[in-house]
Amino acid sequence: MIGTGVLKGMAVTARNFVGSYFDKERLTTVQYPEERAPLPENYRNFPFLVYDGEASEAGLRCVACKICEKECPPQCIYIVKSDDKKPDYMGKPQFYPRIFDIDISVCMSCQICVEVCPFEAIKMDKVYELSRQERFDALLMKKDDLAKSNGYYHEIQPTEAASVDAKLTEAAAAKKKPTTPPGAPPAAAAGGATTTAA
Ligand code: SF4
Ligand code: SF4
Repeated sequence: MIGTGVLKGMAVTARNFVGSYFDKERLTTVQYPEERAPLPENYRNFPFLVYDGEASEAGLRCVACKICEKECPPQCIYIVKSDDKKPDYMGKPQFYPRIFDIDISVCMSCQICVEVCPFEAIKMDKVYELSRQERFDALLMKKDDLAKSNGYYHEIQPTEAASVDAKLTEAAAAKKKPTTPPGAPPAAAAGGATTTAA
């Protein structure tokens, strides 16, 4: 029958309206901006750059490899690589971005930059109050605007950030392990093992 859908919808609205006086769960309206509905952990909007430690410049994980710049579908990332190098989180000298801009008025929140980054250096943020009155450039985010600490990443995406930390720790430990030179006997056979049979 024509109009059944409208009647059903109005019944739901009426049930929630009356029910909201007795059950807070039925009060679906949030009094924004005084109140904010909690965002789900996997909510995402625009990317940010992760840094370790306290100093954003020194701790920036990005090594300016430019993979994200190449892969970004609307081409809204612009990177200029440094001339010198700085130590990364494992102490290895690496290039870093002298310039790293993202035009978030163009970004389509696809997360491809995050997926392709081999260094866990770029992640998706949850900040959504980004509207500006200016017409040009106000949404062009510079490196300083984009850099946010690993602590912040843990606050907004605790599960994902913990798994990234575990992965990076594992990778750092694997790099520190002594490697057996080609043709040399395994460590145990060469007397490297420390346990003895009783
Ligand atoms: S989220 Fe997508 S569109 Fe936005 S910067 Fe990353 S790759 Fe580009
Ligand atoms: S964010 Fe990642 S992929 Fe992009 S330039 Fe930096 S290290 Fe490379």
